[in-house]
Amino acid sequence: MKYIGAHVSAAGGVENVPERAHEIGAKAFALFTKNQRRWEGPPLTKENIKGFKNSCQDLGYSMGQVMPHDSYLINLGHPEEQQLQKSRNAFLDEIQRCEQLGIKLLNFHPGNHLNKISVEECLDRNAESLNWALEKTNGVTAVIENTAGQGTSVGYKFEYLARIIDGVDDKSRVGVCIDTCHAFAAGYDLSTEKGYHKMWNQFEALIGFEYLKGMHLNDSKKECGSRVDRHDNIGEGKIGIKGFELLMKDKRLNDIPMILETPNTERWPEEIELLYDLVD
Ligand SMILES: [Zn+2]
Ligand SMILES: [Zn+2]
Repeated sequence: MKYIGAHVSAAGGVENVPERAHEIGAKAFALFTKNQRRWEGPPLTKENIKGFKNSCQDLGYSMGQVMPHDSYLINLGHPEEQQLQKSRNAFLDEIQRCEQLGIKLLNFHPGNHLNKISVEECLDRNAESLNWALEKTNGVTAVIENTAGQGTSVGYKFEYLARIIDGVDDKSRVGVCIDTCHAFAAGYDLSTEKGYHKMWNQFEALIGFEYLKGMHLNDSKKECGSRVDRHDNIGEGKIGIKGFELLMKDKRLNDIPMILETPNTERWPEEIELLYDLVD
């Protein structure tokens, strides 16, 4: 079964999210459990938590269909100690919010080396940060997202994701989320059948499908290999509909949240329908 959905707004409280996902026909959803542009957010209240859980239950969302995204400010590979600790504390808070809500996955971007440390050192810091945070929590899997490789962001090659996983002590609590726009921008040409199979063969050899916990479904405004992160609506970018057809027919991608982060949010209901039409 394909769980296709979108990253919906948590305005007014996380308890409103499942209903918003349901309204657009989503079978999966992402959310921010706090304001994604701030370091601190008010703690979740009992009403938030109860409301969220009840709504998920009423609308038939299992926790395997929910994959929140952490704050954009967090850099778990930060080259400077003080900033690194600030990021770790914020990430721990995000995991704890998931624990409170009963959520099992938390999606995050590996950090930026900011030209102050090597790529490898930055990746290793990411792994150390995960070890630090996972040790203090339970039941939530940290899901590393591949990046487009823009600026000094690490994690755009599968080798880099594999290196982070390698450094994590508890392998049962680490996974990856493949963002199609980021993969394409990073040089994985999933727009053709040949490129598509090449990408997943590399994925299987370096990481393995057992680590694939979610996907972000976005077309790309920029060329393959551009390393520029610009999402486009499905079928309208450089990946094109063929790439998404291949994804929808791929059984290895069943039963994980597949989240739209496309720019024209009003089109999400049609995009979800379009993608379901491509499933066999
Ligand atoms: Zn993404
Ligand atoms: Zn992106």
